[in-house]
Amino acid sequence: MATQSSQASTPTSISATHRVRWVIGNWKMNPTLQAAKNLAHSIAEKANQDQSIQHCRVALAPTTLHLISVGAQLGAHQNITLVAQDVASTGPTGAYTGDISADLLKDAGATWTLVGHSERRTLHHEDEIILGAKFKAALIAGLGVIWCVGETLAEREAGSAIDVVTAQIQAHADILASIAPEQLIVAYEPVWAIGTGKTASPEDAQQMHAALRQVLANIRADLILTSLLYGGSVKSDNARLLAQCPDIDGALVGGASLDADSFLQIAQAFDVA
Ligand code: PEP
Repeated sequence: MATQSSQASTPTSISATHRVRWVIGNWKMNPTLQAAKNLAHSIAEKANQDQSIQHCRVALAPTTLHLISVGAQLGAHQNITLVAQDVASTGPTGAYTGDISADLLKDAGATWTLVGHSERRTLHHEDEIILGAKFKAALIAGLGVIWCVGETLAEREAGSAIDVVTAQIQAHADILASIAPEQLIVAYEPVWAIGTGKTASPEDAQQMHAALRQVLANIRADLILTSLLYGGSVKSDNARLLAQCPDIDGALVGGASLDADSFLQIAQAFDVA
């Protein structure tokens, strides 16, 4: 990996100490209820005993169905944040069969939600209009938003990755112009790296994060301090190199978050003061 000084970074990367570090586990449509409770308990116990995780916030995103049960396992461990994987664009209540509003997610204990994960964008055909409505609904209810962006392999190979990804931010400039900075995290997840075992090189990830930070700062100056996470096959053995990149503030972790030790090793890697 190139040294930090040779990597592209924003001039204000010096503010890294003021940005919040996060490692967030996205459990997707896993595991079953009892296994989810056991995993949450194990992560909470180990995180509590682990003196090496001091500066990195840890969060878990179980299935919506398991939010309350997982939250109960975390009860005594206030340092672990509960995240929803998706949110309805409508609410707070009403005739929306199958939907779960931001208010109901909050009621179940979530304080943040993912919006725009590539699996929602592709498998559920969620476009920027639907995602913008979800973004607004979450903020109105007081949920923080982990805004997920990322390019496909074809877009990267065509050389348009930065344009595609920054456009996924620019499309919501109106919302971002008035957001409270503490309600926003951005996760850059190249689609081709999710669940594939392929990871963006630290240099490519850093270049994208620097571009995202610049776009956010152009929308509103204080958004330069937004926590920017990398996601896409992050494992305990590649986390340290990613954590050394000046504009990468943490990770959104899928597969490796289903094992307590692997997940917490990633949190340790990002636990930089
Ligand atoms: C994800 O789905 O957000 C993700 C990054 O998955 P994985 O770590 O398994 O690639």
